[in-house]
Amino acid sequence: MLMSGKEYVDSLKGRKIEVYAFGEKIEKPCEHPLLKPSLNSIAATYDIAFDPKYTQLATATSHLTGKKINRFTHIHRSVDDLVKKVKLLRVLGQKTGTCFQRCVGWDALNALSIVTYEIDQKHKTEYHKYFIEFLKHVQSKDLTCAGAMTDVKGDRSLRPSEQADPDLYVHVVEKRDDGIVVRGAKVHITGVVHSHEIIVMPTRALTEKDKDYAVSFAVPTDTEGITLIVGRQMGDLRKLRGEYFDLGNFKYGAAGHEALVIFDNVFVPWNRVFMCGEYEFAGQLVETFASYHRQSYGGCKVGLGDVLIGAAALAAKYNGVLKASHIRSKLVDMVYLNETLHACGLACSYEGFKTSSGTFRVDSMLANICKLNVTKFPYEIARLAHDIAGGLIATMPSEKDYKDPKLGKLIEKYLRGVSDVPTEHRMKIFRLIENMTMSTGYLVESMHGAGSPEAQRIMISRLANFEEKMKLAKNLTGIN
Ligand code: SF4
Ligand code: FE
Repeated sequence: MLMSGKEYVDSLKGRKIEVYAFGEKIEKPCEHPLLKPSLNSIAATYDIAFDPKYTQLATATSHLTGKKINRFTHIHRSVDDLVKKVKLLRVLGQKTGTCFQRCVGWDALNALSIVTYEIDQKHKTEYHKYFIEFLKHVQSKDLTCAGAMTDVKGDRSLRPSEQADPDLYVHVVEKRDDGIVVRGAKVHITGVVHSHEIIVMPTRALTEKDKDYAVSFAVPTDTEGITLIVGRQMGDLRKLRGEYFDLGNFKYGAAGHEALVIFDNVFVPWNRVFMCGEYEFAGQLVETFASYHRQSYGGCKVGLGDVLIGAAALAAKYNGVLKASHIRSKLVDMVYLNETLHACGLACSYEGFKTSSGTFRVDSMLANICKLNVTKFPYEIARLAHDIAGGLIATMPSEKDYKDPKLGKLIEKYLRGVSDVPTEHRMKIFRLIENMTMSTGYLVESMHGAGSPEAQRIMISRLANFEEKMKLAKNLTGIN
């Protein structure tokens, strides 16, 4: 089944989720102004499946049922699937200008399709069978899954089992005949309030002592014992007050939403458990997921870059400087940086390969290079956007002033750029640049989403094979 955006929104109603923000319980998260823009951007991942222009990118054929499904629930079966993923994310980034949140769960599904298979090969367990049943459920109902990896982690110098408080990493507290009971918390979980399911994975490589922390499972978001506390973002008061103009991107927001997800003795039936104690596979699951999500950023963030480049060019046009050579050169630099990110996302996809499970995986080295570039280039792109647009992006009067009968006339007159463009248009573009470059969605997420830069350096260092490179240098110089 393929859901439309509206059907998706309807499908979320009636859940009994425990969600809080600003010290209050949110009874209707789909209607709440704080959470509405992020809902709209996830809905865009549903609507695009019905857009004839993008059917090839946005839908796929399920390898389990042969039915047409939304690509966000598809398991990559070829290099072409990996490439289409990156292209789809770029288009959605262009359409929403923000994080559309559904990729984390998608990447978790693909990572689990590989790792559950490999655990079963070694341990004769049944996780892959459970996983496939879960996948069929997700595909047939066209569900959105949140991917929950990052634990709150407490003292970073200590392993999970060494922490003063054992709950600082999600762990199994009880094994029963019918399932397991888990406790702990996951942090900055993207899109979770508007997700039907939460897929939990370990956050790091684990040792035998941390066995209880080697746990992966999926539960509906409204499962008893789960509490969601939505994080603050820049611009949240503008959302709450309905200051649409000042939000820049009022429909989709400057970012998705993230939440702290607390699991307080949550019961998970065995057929929803995908790892339980196989600690030697925890690192592999983390790396496989991370590689997929680092690939993702070579799509989504590039789409956002396209929007920001467009906004900077418009700002220049409205300021009357579009033809200045230094402006043209800065815009070209923005494009060069943005396309380099896309090139990395595509490269790690084209170098993808088939795993024993049949799922195609991206090339880890190139996916990590992609993401490490994403921790840097968007900052430079944003810096150039600030340079081109000018200081008004940070000092401009508010929407309320602009709408005030007396002040509005003054603003209209004195904040005009070129005479044939209404002041309102100029202000809207400045607000878009402000919101895109000073909030979570484009920059902080580029830095820390899919792992902070040091995580990529660790992977790159592991994969770089410096020994081999030293040999190359020795060979040429005759050093034995
Ligand atoms: Fe998807 Fe990008 Fe948001 Fe991650 S940051 S969920 S890849 S849109
Ligand atoms: Fe992200």
